[in-house]
Amino acid sequence: MTFTYGGLRVTDDAGVIDQFGNTIPRLFACGEMVGGMFLGGYFGGSGLTSGAVFGRLASKSAVVSH
Ligand SMILES: Cc1cc2nc3c(=O)[nH]c(=O)nc-3n(C[C@H](O)[C@H](O)[C@H](O)COP(=O)(O)OP(=O)(O)OC[C@H]3O[C@@H](n4cnc5c(N)ncnc54)[C@H](O)[C@@H]3O)c2cc1C
Repeated sequence: MTFTYGGLRVTDDAGVIDQFGNTIPRLFACGEMVGGMFLGGYFGGSGLTSGAVFGRLASKSAVVSH
């Protein structure tokens, strides 16, 4: 998959938000799983950048949550 216009809603620290707007404890997402990144269109290079930036963020949040 190159990228998606859909995906999961997340908090600023990559925590996954459920359908009721609540953060799901100890569940984090990054990269292709995260929605809303490309609503304005796809910019070259932003797929890998998104995975790297939010992957680092999500991994830090996962460590802190344990
Ligand atoms: C043909 C093509 C060209 C592209 N060109 C560019 C480009 O020039 N620039 C750019 O920025 N982006 C490009 N992209 C997009 C970019 O590759 C993706 O946005 C990026 O790789 C997404 O990273 P990700 O970590 O979210 O997902 P992925 O890179 O898909 O990583 C997911 C990983 O999870 C693993 N996995 C799946 N299920 C399980 C499981 N059950 N247990 C353990 N592991 C599992 C998979 O094997 C995979 O390694 C391109 C994509 C494609 C397909």
